[in-house]
Amino acid sequence: MSLLKTQIFSCRLFSTAVANSKPKIIDGFIGAIGNTPLIRLRKLSEETGSEVLGKAEFMNPGGSVKDRAALYVVKEAEEKGLITTGGTIIEGTAGNTGIGLAHVCRAKGYDCIIYMPNTQSQEKIDLLRMLGAKVYPVPAVPFEDPNNYNHQARRHAERIPNAVWTNQFDNVANRRAHYETTGPEIWEQTNGQIDGFTCSTGTGGTFAGVTRYLKEKNPNIKSFIADPPGSVLYSYFKSGGNLIERKGSSITEGIGQGRVTENLKEEINSIDDALFISDEKSIEMLYRLLDEEGFYIGASSALNVVAAYEMAKILGPGKTIVTAICDGAYRYQTRLFSRKWLESKNLVDAIPKHLQKYIIL
Ligand code: PMP
Repeated sequence: MSLLKTQIFSCRLFSTAVANSKPKIIDGFIGAIGNTPLIRLRKLSEETGSEVLGKAEFMNPGGSVKDRAALYVVKEAEEKGLITTGGTIIEGTAGNTGIGLAHVCRAKGYDCIIYMPNTQSQEKIDLLRMLGAKVYPVPAVPFEDPNNYNHQARRHAERIPNAVWTNQFDNVANRRAHYETTGPEIWEQTNGQIDGFTCSTGTGGTFAGVTRYLKEKNPNIKSFIADPPGSVLYSYFKSGGNLIERKGSSITEGIGQGRVTENLKEEINSIDDALFISDEKSIEMLYRLLDEEGFYIGASSALNVVAAYEMAKILGPGKTIVTAICDGAYRYQTRLFSRKWLESKNLVDAIPKHLQKYIIL
């Protein structure tokens, strides 16, 4: 990209950052959710000749993109009169929605009960408990199994009064959070000069909400879904809509899906392309971003950045591509920076030799 275009772009970013800056005083934890910065990934932008931008969702007050959905599903339960003071929010989650909910519940005075697959990191379980949530780690079985963490959460809510199962996978208040906040923020931060959006999906709320908003603004904006091993959405898209059984697994937590959730359903036909991103590529990017840019991000975020980088190469130079940097590495550090753990996943060799100095645990 020419120096002139870089300067014009930087000015644009600067002026929108000032125009949209948060008020000086924010009302409580909830007031601090959203309005995250959009960050230019400098080295990747230089390499591709496009602007590769990351929405810094790790800067939400609960530390992840899921703070937005957590707030929306609780607000919806309140608006529908499903919960009143002293009530209980119950959710099945890989962790981040639970953490967002636990914060929102403390801020609003609700109890919080979380069911999560026992494959998730200890850091997330510890944090949930420190935030006052009651946590049930349960065996990781598919959604079709009645003992899946989501069904256990639903049954628990049915057993106790004044309790709501917020059902993040199929409750479209989740997608609405991104349609009403993340999408408009990206549109304004880029001054509408955006060519592509890509991210992976857990519930699909981020992908669907942002895609819908951006395509309503400009139908020419491309939206690519990014998928890790063990997820079916890549093959679903490439095969024209066949749900193929999940195969394999991934080091990425919080993403990968075995079905088309309600949050995703209406946007599944808006997908322009799908990208399969291996764990090798994600872990390499995670270490690269630490070394080149100083970002300490989780594996789903690294996967998203690989997708944005690949999308930039596919669309060609001079474009603006946005993805989500969903959370920080703090929640996974005893895994992602542990030689023993990386060895157990055969991933040490995927990290370039000169970056292996960061494997310190
Ligand atoms: N990254 C991380 C770390 C997550 O926890 C999640 C949500 N589980 C996602 C990405 C995916 O977000 P969404 O649920 O909006 O698809």
